[in-house]
Amino acid sequence: MVIETGSPEETFELGKKIGSRAKAGQVYTLTGDLGTGKTVFTQGVAAGLGLTEPVNSPTFTIVQVYEEGRLPFYHFDVYRIGDIEEMEEIGYDDYFFGNGICLIEWAELIEEILPEDRISITIQKNLEKGFDYRQITIEEKNK
Ligand code: ADP
Ligand code: MG
Repeated sequence: MVIETGSPEETFELGKKIGSRAKAGQVYTLTGDLGTGKTVFTQGVAAGLGLTEPVNSPTFTIVQVYEEGRLPFYHFDVYRIGDIEEMEEIGYDDYFFGNGICLIEWAELIEEILPEDRISITIQKNLEKGFDYRQITIEEKNK
């Protein structure tokens, strides 16, 4: 499924819709260059899960846990990860195969440990279509 947005608000609303429909145990991966809107989308998902506290990219930790929503929300940003070992150290599989919602910014950096069943979201700019244009591709992956 391909969706086009023309503002951060529209990307937020798309995330919110997905967050409101998300089911326990789902893993969402987010791929896209710096500044494409992964965090904006994530904030929408958080709102859709009923979270009211602010969600920003975790800078000094790989994962930030939010428990106040409809389901636990595990927000990963693996941009600064040096080695896959760091994922082992935080016990990532408890999150990936747990009962909350995982959302992973920069998921392509940890491709080798991503679960087979996941929902892949890719955000791309196209400057020919304007500065605020984003093409968002949502694909279900499984074996
Ligand atoms: P990332 O997490 O991918 O690095 P951010 O979500 O932090 O990116 O930032 C995206 C930036 O792009 C924000 O400043 C936002 O206002 C801007 N922006 C402009 N148009 C859009 C759009 N259609 N969707 C999402 N963000 C947009
Ligand atoms: Mg980000």
